[in-house]
Order: sequence, then structure tokens, then C-alpha cells
Amino acid sequence: MKNIFKNSEQRDRAHKAINNFEALSNIDFGKTAAFFMEFHIVLELVYYAVGCTPMVIINIISILSYIAAIYFASRDYKSVTIWIILIEVYLHVVLATVFMGIKCGFTLWLFGTFSSVFLPFFSPTLERRQKLGIFGFSLLIVISFLLLTVLGNNGSFPNTYNPPVNISNIFYFCNAIVGFSSITVYTSSYNTRIQNQNDQLQLMADHDYLTGMYNRQRIQSILEAEMEHARNNPDTNISIAIMDIDYFKRINDTYGHPAGDSFLKGIAAIFDKYAEKGLLYGRWGGEEFLFISPEHYSYSDFALMLDSIRKEIEAYILVDKGNTIHTTASFGAALYQQGMTLEKFVTLADSRLYEAKGTGRNKVVF
Ligand code: GH3
Ligand code: MG
Ligand code: MG
Repeated sequence: MKNIFKNSEQRDRAHKAINNFEALSNIDFGKTAAFFMEFHIVLELVYYAVGCTPMVIINIISILSYIAAIYFASRDYKSVTIWIILIEVYLHVVLATVFMGIKCGFTLWLFGTFSSVFLPFFSPTLERRQKLGIFGFSLLIVISFLLLTVLGNNGSFPNTYNPPVNISNIFYFCNAIVGFSSITVYTSSYNTRIQNQNDQLQLMADHDYLTGMYNRQRIQSILEAEMEHARNNPDTNISIAIMDIDYFKRINDTYGHPAGDSFLKGIAAIFDKYAEKGLLYGRWGGEEFLFISPEHYSYSDFALMLDSIRKEIEAYILVDKGNTIHTTASFGAALYQQGMTLEKFVTLADSRLYEAKGTGRNKVVF
């Protein structure tokens, strides 16, 4: 599969956009930056209370950078927002360790920073350039952690503003909580993002783009499951039908393909009403649809439902650019008999559809 699509994938510009943080909206980014800004406003009071003047000044720059991050998020510059947040956290850790001392545990923030930077590294869709950026920044975080720890423990930083031991312990405690929480929050939000992306892909994989109904693959697997159920419960009824629009090519030829597309959408809207009654259906081919009877419907009830759909299609009129477009549809239905294969079941419905086509169209043969 991969090899077949290799050339088109390389050319696929739409696909690349998916990975550029599309799953998170600029509102999510704005909210994150706003949360960090509030956090630093609280920190401002803390630095002031412990009398660490350099951090009081540095922290004001932090707050200003989050204001900038909120602005960029609002303008949809997501990657600028991310870089501001990451660089701010990193520099804040380094400077807070230098001025407040290693014992305050600001280096513990780096664990959360590392996880947020490194987590997407193994995503198979990342470009080489993005991977290098992630790898470089992750390495910088690890080296910085080690260097700050060694230098801090060696007493290489000025201790003028270091708080007393009991206050340092409180800082250490709080920073450990911040570190652990940031890992938890980031990994869970990352999982949610991946899950949302998967849900979206699943939806796209199961549905027909034009009509929004199940596509062939999905309706066929639903039918397989229904047949399996009928095999295990011999007293359940299951019937199917294939519908084909009559003279559809004429609509395309006379009014154009877009009008044909609109007509298909109009037909899909008719089916939707029957979904409430338990009818399952999907697009089987171009202008062919497969129906699976609602549960507990007898074959004759199903035939009545199909006839009612047939009548609605017959009465349906699409008005397109001043033209009134209408046509009819033919149906072939089949009742499941024990031992039937899917192919045989569908072929039986198909042969009845051909019978309907050959005997005047606009009818249900069952
Ligand atoms: P019959 O009554 O025998 O079924 O005649 P028909 O014209 O409906 O059958 P035919 O198979 O000759 O033509 C089917 C047409 O459906 C041809 C194809 O262009 C059109 N078609 C298939 N899928 C689509 C689609 O997604 N959009 C549009 N506009 N047309 C489609
Ligand atoms: Mg056809
Ligand atoms: Mg047709």
C-alpha cells in the first residue's frame, strides 16, 4: 500500500498540514499561554516576598513574553506561540536556578519541558527538519539539567539571593509538584489530541465524502456482522436491497456533474429519515446504494419501506440553476437464507435489481 502511494504522498500538500498542530486550535494555545501568564503573576509575588530582585525583574519579562504568546496565538501563529512558551520555560529554569540556588528545585520543571518537547519525536509523519529541532532541544534540556545540577551543587552560582533552607525546601516541594503535574497534563492532552485525530480519521475512513453516508467498505463490514449475527440466531430476519438511480447519466449529461452531485446529496437526505426507523445503508458504488433492513422487520415490511423510499425519490425534485431535475430509482431486494455467503446474498439482490431495470424501472423487485 505504502509503495503504491509513495509518489503521490511526496506531492501531497494537504496531508502535511495535518501535522502542523492542526489538532489544537489557536484558542487552546491562547488558553495555555494565559495559564502560564497567570502562574507567573503568582510567581512575581513569591519572588518579591523572598526578596530575589533578579527574579522579580526576569519574571516581568516572562509575563511580557506570555502576553506576546497570547497575541501570536490570537493571530494563529501557533509555532511562534509554542517556541515562546518553550524558550521562556527553559530560560526561566536556568536563571531561577542561578539566582535562587539548585536546592529550590527549579530544574524539576525540565522534566515536564522535556516530555512536552520530546513526545512527538516518534510521530512517523514528522519532517526531518522538525525531528532535528526536537532532538536538539531535548538534548539541550538534558545537558542543561546535568550542568545546572553539577554547577549548583559545586557552589558555582552566586548565593546572594538564595532563600534559607526551610524556604528552599518549600520551593523544592512546590516545583516537584509543578514538574509532575506538567508531565501529567501534557501527556494526557497529547493523548486526547491523538485520540481526536484518530476519531477524525476513522470518520473519514468510514464515510463517503459526497453524501456523508457509510462508504462501501463500512456498509459491507456492517453487513458481514449482521450476517454473522443471523447465523448465530437463526430466528432473526435479515434482508438487503440494492438501489440504482434510473437514467442518472442523463442528469449529468443534461445538467452537468455538479447537478448530479447535488441530486445524490438530496437522495441521501431522503434515506436519513429512514435511519431513525433502523435502516442501515451506504453508498455501494457511483449511484448505487445498499440497504440493510431494520432489526425485527419482516421481509414484507422491508419491501414496504423500500417502496416508500422509491415513492419519495419519484416525488423528489431538485431545483438547480432554474432547472427542475427529477428521476426515479429501481430496487432489488433479497432475504438472507442460512448458509448464504455475502457474495451470494448481494448477487441475489443485484439480479433482482437487473430484473427491475429490465421490466420498466421505478420499482422494487423482491
Ligand atoms: P440506468 O437506469 O440503467 O441505471 O442508467 P444510468 O444512466 O443511471 O446508468 P449508468 O451506469 O449508465 O450511469 C451511471 C452514472 O452515474 C454514470 C456516472 O457518471 C454517474 N456517477 C457515478 N458517481 C457519480 C458521482 O459521484 N457524481 C455524479 N455527478 N455522477 C456520478
Ligand atoms: Mg449504476
Ligand atoms: Mg443508474
